[in-house]
Amino acid sequence: MKDKRIISVKNPKLRKIRNEMREVLLQARDAELDKITYEMELMEFDKDDNRITIDDLTPSQLERFRELQHLKNENREIGRKSICMCYNCGKPDQDMFYNYPYRAWFCVECVKFLKKGHAKMKVKKAHGEYTCDPDDDFGQSFF
Ligand SMILES: [Zn+2]
Repeated sequence: MKDKRIISVKNPKLRKIRNEMREVLLQARDAELDKITYEMELMEFDKDDNRITIDDLTPSQLERFRELQHLKNENREIGRKSICMCYNCGKPDQDMFYNYPYRAWFCVECVKFLKKGHAKMKVKKAHGEYTCDPDDDFGQSFF
């Protein structure tokens, strides 16, 4: 994939199809997340339906619980970094910009906002008005 790339759809009918496809994919991801969450919630109770803590799990149960946590985080991150939603604001219905250094898609509105913010911060920093050390790499990655 190119370093920086904007995927833009102008035709309203095609935009609608694109948005609906993204929504279907996000719903599929959410269904997977629900299954994982349900299995994790079942592990929070013993056979007599008493609430237990993570310390009460057997080593194999704990291993499964950690596996599910990892899977849940991974699925969530895959969805967040996909073209189905903006990594910054979560909107699923925008034209998207691929930010290769972060391996994630950002909506064009957020890219404009982040670029503007980064440019303003650089000016303030140059004039000594901004003394914090901002995440230059992140802001710069949109240019
Ligand atoms: Zn956004």
